Amino acid sequence: MAFDFDLFVIGGGSGGVRAARVAAQGGAKVGLAEEDKYGGTCVQRGCVPKKLMVFASEFPGAIEDAVQYGWTVHSGSFDWPAFRAKLEAELDRLEGVYRNILGNAGVQSFDARAVVADPHTVELSTGERFSAKHILVATGGWPVKPDLPGAEDAITSNEIFHLDSLPKSILIIGGGYIACEFAGILNGLGVEVTQYYRGAQILRGFDEEARGLISEEMIQNGVDLHLGTNIIEMEKVDGGFRVKSTNGDERVFEQVMFATGRAPNTAGLGLEQAGVKLGRNGQVIVDDYSQTSVPSIYAVGDVTDRVNLTPVAIREGMAFVETVFNGNPTPVDHALIPTAIFTQPEMGTVGLSEEEARDQEAVEIYCTSFRPMQTAFVGRPDRVLMKLVVSKATRKVLGCHIVAPGAGEMIQLAGIAVKMGATKEDFDRTVAVHPTMSEEIVTMREPTRSA
Ligand code: NDP
Repeated sequence: MAFDFDLFVIGGGSGGVRAARVAAQGGAKVGLAEEDKYGGTCVQRGCVPKKLMVFASEFPGAIEDAVQYGWTVHSGSFDWPAFRAKLEAELDRLEGVYRNILGNAGVQSFDARAVVADPHTVELSTGERFSAKHILVATGGWPVKPDLPGAEDAITSNEIFHLDSLPKSILIIGGGYIACEFAGILNGLGVEVTQYYRGAQILRGFDEEARGLISEEMIQNGVDLHLGTNIIEMEKVDGGFRVKSTNGDERVFEQVMFATGRAPNTAGLGLEQAGVKLGRNGQVIVDDYSQTSVPSIYAVGDVTDRVNLTPVAIREGMAFVETVFNGNPTPVDHALIPTAIFTQPEMGTVGLSEEEARDQEAVEIYCTSFRPMQTAFVGRPDRVLMKLVVSKATRKVLGCHIVAPGAGEMIQLAGIAVKMGATKEDFDRTVAVHPTMSEEIVTMREPTRSA
């Protein structure tokens, strides 16, 4: 049977665009539908605008330090509308880049919503229907808010980049990546930030010592962080929202932002009707090759809720093309993925936390925390942390955790060694780069503890 397309991709984010481009470059006839702006969460509502906001938010601290380093600096204020206009222009430019990538590769793109009509057919919001030998679902995820009174008026990370003005005060709810990153960003931009997290410590799942240091530093930097606290209800009042919380407080904040997780975008896509199995959170269930329960339908990226990170979605997209179009079945390797959290201070991490490793085998912990030269010089109390989790049996470094300015850059490189299976002795054989913070990673001689 002749199909209109060899591949039809639903979703123009990181995973979908990569798969579409690589398949088309290999000679496949590819269509792609995107109902919103091209680039997806990473480019339009996530990593890229977030990181630019991190940069913007770090200037006040840098300016204070410049004075301590002997510079005469004239005080200034932050012009949010000017920054936002520049940010939006940059996101538009990147959307153009994504469109060009597709166009240049010969992918036919449709500015429309697509749903799955049957295992080999997609239907567009324009009314068009296309048959496809393979369908790739790459629709990503979307922020979710808890179901509580007034929550519908609060914002999420989707809206934060486009506010008309920065609020004087904000309550951020959640203790994950997004909550902690935006607490730091908005605090740096001069907003009074209160953060409620229902658990005992932010950044659940990461190394405990690292989380503890980030939480201390965030508080020291001015974030009013309340652990073991959650919102009960909120209502609109003059000047913002009155919020009742589990700690008995009733306070007014100009803005409230929920960073309470993201859910896979599968509602109304026609997947279940076509026979595609979904999980409890609505995620598309796939095998190691990103194939769903319907053989002609695959899914990659956040919609599968495996490891929800841009580079992982891209890997999954490439492995899908390799498997389906190049006849080379390629599972995606989800082990030892280095990642960064752009909190202030930043965290870079790869491998097992101390707690995970201890559950698995006997380990030695090498850990140091100190005041780095650059900020100690100006009298800042800021501390950084370098930590290695080492297997006693194999001497392999099972985990590396860095909390420090630039930790994201550092962990990319340390991640290569850990992925290669480097031992503690391999780290020790490497000469230190001096004077740097990261030299401590190769100079920790005695274990801090065994566990
Ligand atoms: P996370 O799942 O990381 O965190 C959600 C947070 O909200 C948790 O602290 C959770 O608490 C809390 N929460 C959930 N439901 C409720 C509720 N009903 N009431 C109060 N609190 C609640 O989600 P994020 O939205 O922060 O991020 C989504 C994903 O995006 C991440 O998992 C990550 O994969 C990706 N991401 C990656 C970034 C990076 O690489 N730098 C940056 C931003 C996002 P609890 O811990 O108790 O469950």
